[in-house]
Amino acid sequence: MGDSFYEIDVNRCTECVGHYDTPTCQQVCPIDNTIITDPKHIEDTERLWEKFVSLHHTSS
Ligand code: SF4
Repeated sequence: MGDSFYEIDVNRCTECVGHYDTPTCQQVCPIDNTIITDPKHIEDTERLWEKFVSLHHTSS
């Protein structure tokens, strides 16, 4: 629609592991097949869980 676009930060995206069963951005986007997995950054569920914990870890 314009010059603006959004880019998903691979270092912060967990494919919604830890929050939802499926990637929420894909669910809410009105256009199919626009938010896809980057073939250069394939991560298994274990790695995504580790990222989720790392992003949400709070020291006590
Ligand atoms: S909504 Fe989920 S899958 Fe989409 S960018 Fe955010 S963490 Fe990643």
